Amino acid sequence: MTTSRDVVVIGAGHNGLVAAAYLAKSGLDVLVCEQRPVVGGAAVSEHPFGPDYTVTSLSYVVSLLPPDLVTDLGLTRHGYHVFPQGPYFAPRADGRYLRLPDDPAQRHAEIAKFSAADADAYPRYEAHLAGLGQVLGPLLDEVPPRLGSRRPRDLWRQGLLLRHLRGLDERGVVDVTRLLTGSIADLIEEYFESDAMLGLLSVSGVIGTWAGPRSAGTAYVMLHHHIGGVDGQAGAWGFPRGGMGGVTGALAAAAQSFGAEIRTGAPVGEIRTRDGRDSGAKVCGVTLASGEEIDAGTVITTAHPQISFLRLLDPAMLPGDFVADIRRWQTRSGTVKINLALDRLPVFASHPDPDPQIHGGTIVLAESLDDIETAFQQAVAGQPSAMPFADICIPSVFDDSLAPPGKHVMSMFTQWVPHRWAAEPHEADLDAYADRVIARMEQVAPGFTSSVLHRQVIGPHRMQEEYGLVGGNIFHGELSLGQMFHARPAAGYADLRTPVPGLYQAGSATHGGGGVTGIPGRNVVRQVMADRRADRLRQRVAALTPGGRRGSR
Ligand SMILES: Cc1cc2nc3c(=O)[nH]c(=O)nc-3n(C[C@H](O)[C@H](O)[C@H](O)COP(=O)(O)OP(=O)(O)OC[C@H]3O[C@@H](n4cnc5c(N)ncnc54)[C@H](O)[C@@H]3O)c2cc1C
Repeated sequence: MTTSRDVVVIGAGHNGLVAAAYLAKSGLDVLVCEQRPVVGGAAVSEHPFGPDYTVTSLSYVVSLLPPDLVTDLGLTRHGYHVFPQGPYFAPRADGRYLRLPDDPAQRHAEIAKFSAADADAYPRYEAHLAGLGQVLGPLLDEVPPRLGSRRPRDLWRQGLLLRHLRGLDERGVVDVTRLLTGSIADLIEEYFESDAMLGLLSVSGVIGTWAGPRSAGTAYVMLHHHIGGVDGQAGAWGFPRGGMGGVTGALAAAAQSFGAEIRTGAPVGEIRTRDGRDSGAKVCGVTLASGEEIDAGTVITTAHPQISFLRLLDPAMLPGDFVADIRRWQTRSGTVKINLALDRLPVFASHPDPDPQIHGGTIVLAESLDDIETAFQQAVAGQPSAMPFADICIPSVFDDSLAPPGKHVMSMFTQWVPHRWAAEPHEADLDAYADRVIARMEQVAPGFTSSVLHRQVIGPHRMQEEYGLVGGNIFHGELSLGQMFHARPAAGYADLRTPVPGLYQAGSATHGGGGVTGIPGRNVVRQVMADRRADRLRQRVAALTPGGRRGSR
C-alpha cells in the first residue's frame, strides 16, 4: 500500500513534534512516524510501576525550550505548565549541607558556612556566566552557516555571524575562548576553594558527558545548561506537569490540532530515494518496517544520525566524507537513570524539616570535584564508579498527578558506568551500581532505602536499544567542541540539510540540540520552507526558459 504526504517526519521525540506542528501550521500535510508505542522519545512519561505512578523516564526538567515556541504552538492550551524547580541542595556525608537559595543574602550566608571567600566570589561568577550567556545563548538559535564554503550566499551568512560577536571586547573574546576550550574545573577553581562548592558546581559541566570535570570542553557543557530559563528567570529549570511527557504530550496535541497525523508503533525501515548518488539521488519517501510505503518529497529525520544515515539509508549512496563524519561521531556518556517510587519523602539528617524548597529543589550528591573526577576515571578504566554522583529531583512535590497522595516519584540522574556498557545489558552490574547510589542517599537521609517501593534502572544499553540513543549518549552525540555548531553533525551539513536533497535532519545531534530545546525542530522548518520557495521559483524560471533545468541545493 502506498500513500502520499507533503512531509514525513521520522521520530516523535520533541524535535519531531515541533517540526510537525510548525509544518502543519503552515498548511502542509504531515505524517510523523514513531517506532515506539508512545510519543516523546527521550522526553517521555511512562508507567513502569503501574498506573498509579507516572515516571519521567529519561529527561526530567525543562529550561531550554524557547518561550516564543511555547506561544507560537499554543502549548499552554494543551496542558503545558512548568513548576519552577527549587534551588540546589547538596547534603553531605559529614552531616552538613550546602544550599544555593535564590535570595542573594541567604545564598551568601549558606556558602559562607563553607568559605567566606566563596560566598564573596559567587556574584562575580554569576555575572561572568551571564555575560557569556548573552553572547553564546543567541547563537544556539542560529542555523549555522557553512563555514569554509566560498559560495557567495554562504560567505554572506558567515558575515552575519559576526553580529553576535560585536558585543565582545578583547577580554570577552578571551573569556569565550577559554569557556569553549577549558574545563569546568579551570573555570570554577578560579572563583571557589571549598570542596562543597566545587563538587556542586562541577556537576553541570559533566551532565550527560563522557568527560570528567578536568576534561577540556566541560566548561561549555555547564554554560549550555545555564542559557535557558523558566518564567523569565535566566538559568532556572522547572518540572513540566505530568513529567517530560507533559511537554511532548502538549506538542503532539498542538501538531494534531494543526492537522498533522502522528503514528506510533510505526518504525521506519528505509528512507527511499530515487536515482543513484551520481545522478543526484533525491528523497522520495519512506518505507515502514511493516512494508508500507509513504511517498513524500520532503523527509525530516530526528533519529540519531547513525540510525538515519547508516541504517535507514544505504551509506554507499552518500558522500564518503559525510559517512566518515557520521561513523566517527562521538556518542558516549555512561549515564544511568534511576527512577523510584517512594513511600514517603526523604528525611535529610542535615535538614530534617519538610521544606518544599529542599524536596522540590535539585538534590545533588557530590562531595567534591575530585570525587567526580575519580568517578569518571574509574569508568574510563572500564569499571563503574564506586561513588557515582547523582542529580536528583522529586517532581511529585509540586505535581500531584504523578503519585498517589503521600507517595512520591524520584528521578536520579547519575554517572558513570563504562560507555561500552551500551553493547550489553549489564543488568546485574547496573543493579549493584543503583544500590550504591541508594546507599549514598541512605547516608544523608537515614531510612531512605526502606522508603523505596519500586525502582527502574535505565543504563546505556537500554537507552540505545529502546530509546534510540546510540551509545547511550543523552544528547544523540557529545557536546564537545569538535561536535558543536558548524561541526554538528558533519562538515557542510550543520544547516539541517543532508547530502540527499529533500532529506533534512533535526534531532539533538544537530546544532541547537542537546536537551529539550525544540530549536532543531523549529529551524528545520525554516530551511524546508526556504527550499520549497526556492524550488517553486526555479520551476517558474525553468517553465519560462526553454531547456531550463531544476537545481537542487
Ligand atoms: C537520561 C536523560 C536525561 C536527560 N535529562 C534532560 C533534562 O532534564 N532536560 C533536558 O533538556 N534534556 C535532557 N536530556 C536530553 C534530552 O532529553 C534529549 O536531548 C532530547 O529529548 C532529544 O530529543 P529529540 O527529539 O532530538 O530526539 P529523541 O527524543 O531521541 O527522539 C527521536 C525519536 O526517533 C525515534 N526513532 C528512532 N529511529 C526511528 C525509526 N527508524 N522510525 C521511527 N522512529 C524512530 C525514537 O524512538 C525517538 O522517539 C536527557 C536525556 C536523557 C537520556
